[in-house]
Amino acid sequence: MIELDKYYDVIIVGAGVAGLNCALNLPRERKILIICKDTPDKSDSYLAQGGICRLVDENDYQGYFDDTMRAGHYENNPATVDCMIRNSQALIDDLIACGVRFARNPDGSLAYTREGGHSRPRICFHEDCTGREITTHLMQKVRGCANIFIAPYVTMVDIIESNNQCYGIVAKDSKNGKLYRLYADYTVLASGGLGGVFENSTNFRILTGDALAICLNHNVAVDHINYIQIHPTTLYSKTKGRRFLISESVRGEGAVLLDKNFNRFCDELQPRDVVTHNILEQMKKDGTKHVWLDMRPIPREEVLKHFPTIVQRCLDEGYDVFRECVPVVPSQHYFMGGIRSDLCGRSTMKRLYAVGETCCNGVHGANRLASNSLLESLIFAKRAAQDIQKNYKRINFEYAERAEIALDLSKYDNVPALLKKYKGIVLKAIEEAEREQPHN
Ligand SMILES: Cc1cc2nc3c(=O)[nH]c(=O)nc-3n(C[C@H](O)[C@H](O)[C@H](O)COP(=O)(O)OP(=O)(O)OC[C@H]3O[C@@H](n4cnc5c(N)ncnc54)[C@H](O)[C@@H]3O)c2cc1C
Repeated sequence: MIELDKYYDVIIVGAGVAGLNCALNLPRERKILIICKDTPDKSDSYLAQGGICRLVDENDYQGYFDDTMRAGHYENNPATVDCMIRNSQALIDDLIACGVRFARNPDGSLAYTREGGHSRPRICFHEDCTGREITTHLMQKVRGCANIFIAPYVTMVDIIESNNQCYGIVAKDSKNGKLYRLYADYTVLASGGLGGVFENSTNFRILTGDALAICLNHNVAVDHINYIQIHPTTLYSKTKGRRFLISESVRGEGAVLLDKNFNRFCDELQPRDVVTHNILEQMKKDGTKHVWLDMRPIPREEVLKHFPTIVQRCLDEGYDVFRECVPVVPSQHYFMGGIRSDLCGRSTMKRLYAVGETCCNGVHGANRLASNSLLESLIFAKRAAQDIQKNYKRINFEYAERAEIALDLSKYDNVPALLKKYKGIVLKAIEEAEREQPHN
């Protein structure tokens, strides 16, 4: 357990890929605090299976751009899509320099896999645990930086704000029960998605969109809060809890979807929302709670090499993917909406940034293209760090102290009740947004 100071240069809320990469791209003389709700490995970044996109070469630019826009129903911001694609090669180079291992061809070049919505293979991967590979290496590097402090089990319960300027956060340490007012020149929200507010989700249950509720309370702009992505294929289970994802790259490599009579009923390589729709329609028609996924069309050696985690998890649940089909059902998976942020991660509040899944910079439009989110999180987190550094100005702590006076700490007495209230705020905002502009 680390004792927290009162002042930091930069506070980052979240220890997924976005938070870690933001910290690593700030200069070593900056005093940085990263907080997370649980242990650092309890982030969705750690769970990512399929991989991370990379522009293969110049000839791939138009195809990659078009695939991203088509998947997003052309509601994407073309400028952020362009920025992500143009920076993808350098980003993958950064990761390799950090020690991340991606699958390679026999000649040593990067091997690419394919997922739904992609017109060609362009996804770098490490077995079926790309997120763990990336996050572990970033974390190792962060742990080697004397200027970055990581505080697990510390939950942001509010921001400290005055006149639309952020001065830091209020946070609670769930281990020692202490409530902290933590001041910073800049605050970065990298707090992930909101799957925890839904009953069926692939996300960690702790990810309940707290930052969104806090931003809504402080009039920080939030966009498309009802743009929720459902993943077509999660392992069907009768028990409650986080749903296990069966990566889209399984279908990219040849797995097929079957109805109750074991007949194919859709094109498995359509974008996620289309496949999800097809599955839900089929379940309705068949009166079933799931459809079947057949991985047997994929060569056995390929399955063992590329999807060891999926094979093992299915075995744990009683399914041998080499001998039988596995039951799959759509579940909440990803959040395309979020805290409005620009190409440098700036929110509408001064000194407050939002990066990663918690933000909405328009890259994904109405529906995220597979394997674009790790990339987007990493690139825009790096850009946020660069922007902070470029425009660095110390805070005037006189104002901060005034903001402190204005802070009524009694409202944080019961943090579980407050977080429950935040969940309610998020769900209500989703409902309202859905009424105003339905997400289809
Ligand atoms: C099962 C699964 C598979 C996926 N596969 C892929 C894939 O193959 N390719 C791809 O590109 N994307 C994939 N994704 C999506 C991708 O993993 C995420 O979008 C991305 O990792 C988000 O990173 P992040 O840093 O924004 O958030 P996260 O990695 O989710 O980190 C959020 C952090 O915020 C902290 N936090 C939240 N609220 C608070 C609070 N109030 N106070 C303090 N800390 C807080 C959490 O503790 C956590 O540390 C997958 C997601 C899942 C769930």
